[in-house]
Amino acid sequence: MEGMRGDSIRLSRTVRQGSLDDVLPQLLDGLVAAVDTAIIVVGTDGTVELWNDAAEQLYGWSAVEAIGEPVGDLIVPVSHQAEGHEIFEGLRQGHSWEGTFLCRRRDGTLVPIQVTDVPILAPDGSVRAIAGLSRDLTDVLSADRDIRAMRAIAEASADAVMTLSGGRIATWSAPAQRLLGWTADEAVGNEIWFTVPDDLREEAAHLLERIAAGEAIVALRTERVAKDGTRLPVHLDSAPVFDAARQTWVGVVTMRDARGRDEVIEAALVAEARSNLLLARSSETVYILEADGTVRTTSSAVEHVLGYSADELEGRYLTALIHPDDAAMAQATFDACLAGDIDHPQVLYRRLTASGEWTWAEATLTNLLADPVVGGIVVNVRDVTERENALAGLVEREARLSAVVSRSSDVAMFFRRDGVIEWVSPAITAALGIDAESLPGTSAIDLVHPDDRRAALRQFVDWLASPTDQVRVEYRFLDAEGRTRWVEQVATDLVDDPSVGYIVANLRDVTERREAHDELARLALVDELTELPNRNALRELGRCALESVAADRCCAIVFVDVDDFSDVNDALGHLAGDELLVGMARRISDVLPDEATLTRFGSDQFAVLCSDVADLPACLTIAGLVRSALDAPFVIDRNEVVAAVSLGVALSPPDDIDVLIRRADVALNRAKKAGRGRTVVFEREQGAESVRRLHYASELRRALANGDIVAHYQPVVDLATGRTVAVEALARWDHPDLGPIAPDVFIPVAESTGMIADLGTQILDQACRDAAEWQRRGRRLQVAVNASAVQLTDLAFPDLVAAALAAAGLPADQLTIEITETAAMRDLSVASQVLTTLRSRGIAISLDDFGTGYSSLSLLKRLPVSALKVDRSFVSGLGTSDEDDQIVTGVVSLALALGFYVVGEGVESIEQAELLQRLGCQLGQGYLWSPAVAADDLLATIASFEE
Ligand code: C2E
Ligand code: CA
Ligand code: CA
Repeated sequence: MEGMRGDSIRLSRTVRQGSLDDVLPQLLDGLVAAVDTAIIVVGTDGTVELWNDAAEQLYGWSAVEAIGEPVGDLIVPVSHQAEGHEIFEGLRQGHSWEGTFLCRRRDGTLVPIQVTDVPILAPDGSVRAIAGLSRDLTDVLSADRDIRAMRAIAEASADAVMTLSGGRIATWSAPAQRLLGWTADEAVGNEIWFTVPDDLREEAAHLLERIAAGEAIVALRTERVAKDGTRLPVHLDSAPVFDAARQTWVGVVTMRDARGRDEVIEAALVAEARSNLLLARSSETVYILEADGTVRTTSSAVEHVLGYSADELEGRYLTALIHPDDAAMAQATFDACLAGDIDHPQVLYRRLTASGEWTWAEATLTNLLADPVVGGIVVNVRDVTERENALAGLVEREARLSAVVSRSSDVAMFFRRDGVIEWVSPAITAALGIDAESLPGTSAIDLVHPDDRRAALRQFVDWLASPTDQVRVEYRFLDAEGRTRWVEQVATDLVDDPSVGYIVANLRDVTERREAHDELARLALVDELTELPNRNALRELGRCALESVAADRCCAIVFVDVDDFSDVNDALGHLAGDELLVGMARRISDVLPDEATLTRFGSDQFAVLCSDVADLPACLTIAGLVRSALDAPFVIDRNEVVAAVSLGVALSPPDDIDVLIRRADVALNRAKKAGRGRTVVFEREQGAESVRRLHYASELRRALANGDIVAHYQPVVDLATGRTVAVEALARWDHPDLGPIAPDVFIPVAESTGMIADLGTQILDQACRDAAEWQRRGRRLQVAVNASAVQLTDLAFPDLVAAALAAAGLPADQLTIEITETAAMRDLSVASQVLTTLRSRGIAISLDDFGTGYSSLSLLKRLPVSALKVDRSFVSGLGTSDEDDQIVTGVVSLALALGFYVVGEGVESIEQAELLQRLGCQLGQGYLWSPAVAADDLLATIASFEE
C-alpha cells in the first residue's frame, strides 16, 4: 500500500495510563533500541535526530555518524528519486507515507526497503518531526511473490488448491471449498488437520515433512474429510516453494477428486508413468495428446511444475509452450511416435513456464492410441533444468579437450540431445568457412542443407531412441559461401557419461568421395554417349516391369543390332560411329510408344524394353516402328549412312529378366546367322532345355559325391612388382566321358538345384587346405573363393567358413570371399549381415564382375567390400575400344577415390596390364600370366612367370 495517508503520531498521549508518564521516555528508548525495525526520526529540516541499532544494521551507518546529517545523504534511494522531494513535503504538511523502494546501503549494495513514514505532531498540531520505520524486504519479497503466484494458480485452477505457509493454510480456492465444503474463511490460518481423516494423520504429517524437505508429491492417492464428515478419495500433488533465503517454506497442494472419469485416466497415466520408472522423479508431469497433436489431458503436476492450470493447456497444440528452436525436434519426435516406428522416443526441449522462464524438459512418448482406456499419446515429461545447467558448466573441461581436438583436420562438435551446439573445434573454419565461435547456442540442424534437414532430424530422433551409442550419417551441409558440401558425421552419445555430458560428433568433408560416388552411380545406369539407360538400367527396369505387368499382358525385349557397324567405324572413324549411334538413339526414341523404353545394351546394340504389350503381334508392331525409324539414311560427315539392323525378340514369360535378355540375344544371333536385316522371335525349346538340365543335375550330384569337382587356382598379380600375391579358386569338372565341363555350364545347374552349397563348401575346404600348404612351403598367398547367392544368404555361412579355416589352420585374413552384386541382391539384409560377420572375423570381401551388376554403388555403401574386380568384358576392350577405355578409366579412378582395391580381370595382353597399372589399378588377373592351374602345379606356374 503506497501513498499518502492521514495518520500521524500525536505527542498528545491520548491512550495511556497516567502512571506510565514518568517512565515513558525510558520506555520508548528501550523499545526503540530493542525492536528489529529500523527507526529513524528526522527533523523538519531533514537532519537525523534519532537512529536506532536496527537502522545501523540495515543502512550501515552508525548512530554517531548519522545523527545531525541530512537523511538524504544516508539513505539513498535508487528508485522513487523523483518523488523524494514531494514525499518529504507531504510529510511536513502532516501526511504520512508508506511504500517500498530500492535503496543503496553504505557499502554500496542494494536493498529493497519497506518504509512507513509518519509525521510527529506537536501539541499545537504542527509537524514537529518525522518518524520512519524501515524493513528489509529481501526475504519477504520473494516469499510474497511466490504466495501471489500461488494464489494466482489457485484461482486459475479447476482443482482444489490450498497453499501452505509455514504449515498453515494460506489460501483456499473456490474448488477446494466445493470439494471439501469449508469456506476460505474457515480454512485459512488453520493447520491442515481438520481435512485429514484420523487414521491418515501420520501419513499427512509425513507428507508435510517431505514438502518441507523440498520434495514434491505427485499424484498421491489418499483420502480427505469433507465438512459434512464424508471421506473423499483424492489425488494429491504438492510442490514446495522456498523463499529466497530458504528459511521458510510454502507449499502448493492440489487435491483432485479421485472419482469418476479422471480417476480412470489418471490411473492409466500413473500406471504408464510407473512402468517407465519415471514417476519417482518429483518434477514429472504427464500429458495425453490426441493423434492430431493437441493436449487432451494433463496431470495435475503441471500446475506446480509449470504454473499453468490444466484448462490453460488442454486443447492447445503440443508445441505451444516449446521453444521455437526446439519445436521442430519435438514435432519430429511426435511424428515418429505417431508413426509407431519407435517405441518410446525421447526428446529434450525448452518450455515456457507461466512465470516466463524457459526450463529444460525431457519427454518420453508412448503411443497408446490403440489402448481403449487411454486412446492417446502419453507423454512423460521430466524437468531436467538442473542437469542442463550443470552441463553448461562444463565449458572449462571443453577448453582442455579442445586443445587436443583442434589439432585434427576433422571437425569435432559437442551438442546436446536437443541439437544445440555447445562447442565446435576451429577446424570447421577450414572445412566450411564458418566461424567456430559463432556456432555455440545454435542448432546443429541449421548447418544441414535445407533439403536434408527433415531426414536428418528424423534420423537423429530415431537414433536417440535406439540403444546404439554411435551413428554414422552423411548429409549435405552449406558452407559459408552457400556451396553444398557432403559431410560425414560420426556421432557418439556421451550425454550420460558424467565426464562428457554431450553428444560428441566428428565431422569430415567427404564431398569428393561423394561426388565420385554420384558420378559412378550415374555411369552405372546411364550410357554416357547416348544418355540412354544402359545395360544395368535395362535389367533394373526389366525387373520392375516383369514384377508389375498384368497377368494377361506381357513384357518383351527387342534387341537391335547394327549390321556391319564395324564397317562404319573402319571407314569413317570412331567419332562417326558414335554420331551414328547417337542419331539412331534419337530417332528410335522418337517413334517408341510410352510403354517402350530404348536402352543401350552394348557397343552397337540397343534393346527396347516393352513393359506392357498384349501379345506377339503388338510386340512386332514395335519392332516395325524401330525399323521404319531407321529407313532414311543418316548424314554423317557429308556421307550418307544407312543403319541396317537385325532384331531379336523375346516375350515373357519367363519372368526372369536375365533369362529374357538371354533369349532375345539368342534370337538376335539367329537373325544375324540367317542373314542381315531380319527379325527373329525366340522360340521356346522348353522341353529340350529341362531334359538337358535334368541330365546335368544327376551327373553333377554324382560328381560332387565322387569328388570329381576340384579347385584350380589362377594367380592374381601385383601390377607394380609382377609378383603373385593371391590366387582365385575356380571350380573344375573333368567329366569321365564328356571331358572338361565349363563352370559357366555347371555352376548355374548347381545353383538352380541347390547343390551349390555343397559344391561351394568343397571348394572352400580345399582352397583353405591348399593355401595352408603353400604357406608351409614358404609361399604366403591370399586365396579368393567365389560364393554364390545361396551361400551368401545362409546365416550359417560364416560358421562354415570359420570351420574351413580352422580345419586347415589358415588365418582368417588370408581368405577372400568373392561375391557378385546379383548374389547379394537376392536378400540384401541377410547378405549384408553375413558379410558383416565375415568381415568382423577378418575375412576380406571382394566384389566380382564389377560393372555388370545393376546397382553397384548403392550396394557398395551397404556392404563391407574392400576390393572391386573390374569385369573382364571391360578389360578385354582396353586399348582397342574407346568406350571400354573410358569405362575402365572411370570405374578404376572412382573406385580408387572410394578407397577400394581394384583388380583387373581377364588381362590377356601386356598393353592391358600396363594400361590398368597406369590407371592406378593395383592387381591383375588373366591369361597373360596364367589360367587357373591345379593346386600341385601352382607354385611352379607362378615361378615360371615371376622368374
Ligand atoms: P569369375 O569368378 O569371374 O572367374 C573368372 C573367370 O574368368 C574364370 O572362368 C576364369 O577362367 C576366366 N578368366 C580368367 N582369366 C581370363 C582371361 O584372361 N581371359 C578370359 N577370357 N577369361 C579369363 P571360369 O573358370 O570359367 O569360371 C566362370 C565363372 O564360374 C566364374 O567367374 C565364377 O562366377 C563361376 N565359378 C567358378 N568357380 C566357382 C565356384 O567355386 N563357386 C561359385 N559359386 N562360382 C564359381
Ligand atoms: Ca570370381
Ligand atoms: Ca569375375
